[in-house]
Amino acid sequence: MKKEELLEELVNGGYLKTESIIEAFKFVDRKNFVLEKDKDSAYENYPLSIGYGQTISQPLTVAFMLELLEPRKKEKVLEIGTGSGWQTCLLAYLVSGGEDNGGRIFSIERIPELKEFANKNISQNYPDFQRYITLIEGDGSLGFDKEAPFDKIIVSAAAVKIPETLKKQLKVGGRMVIPVGESILSLDKISEDEFKTKEFFGFSFVKFIGAD
Ligand code: SAM
Repeated sequence: MKKEELLEELVNGGYLKTESIIEAFKFVDRKNFVLEKDKDSAYENYPLSIGYGQTISQPLTVAFMLELLEPRKKEKVLEIGTGSGWQTCLLAYLVSGGEDNGGRIFSIERIPELKEFANKNISQNYPDFQRYITLIEGDGSLGFDKEAPFDKIIVSAAAVKIPETLKKQLKVGGRMVIPVGESILSLDKISEDEFKTKEFFGFSFVKFIGAD
């Protein structure tokens, strides 16, 4: 498939809706985040291996989760599961709008080699985004206390339950999008201990492996 065909499929399927997210998908090219041997398959609507038993996510899933998250300019976002760095750059595009307005992405990856892979993909292809992105090696289930609270939190691997630490590190008024089992959950934090949850069935993810 060509890049334009993938975008058309995501728009026509109702997965991509918001103008800024469509623009982000055009600007941040998935081809820059797949392994050399998979460059010809970069615009296929399925996950691709990035080594270490992990994948760059399926475009449909990334589109669906970003539409749910509604990232806005100037927001501080915590991403868990950097992987290739593709979604990290999509988020950086959305919170920055192309200028340094204070919007920041903090992205945690537990596999050191993948953190390095993402770092290389970002620095070689989107060097301007480096100032909006902080890559962290570690267990994302513990969040990133140093920068909490976050406007938004997005998790790219399926948990068995929602880590309490992540709930605490979300701002009141903020939103977390997280796969649990084969569903994607969207949680709006209404007050310190109240969440409004929506569930969307029928997705498949690599496992979230963490202490919490
Ligand atoms: N959005 C990424 C992309 O498109 O490249 C997705 C990468 S993959 C589907 C999910 C990633 O989550 C993997 O790289 C995996 O190592 C990472 N992961 C799993 N559990 C984690 C944890 N507890 N903390 C940080 N990263 C974790």
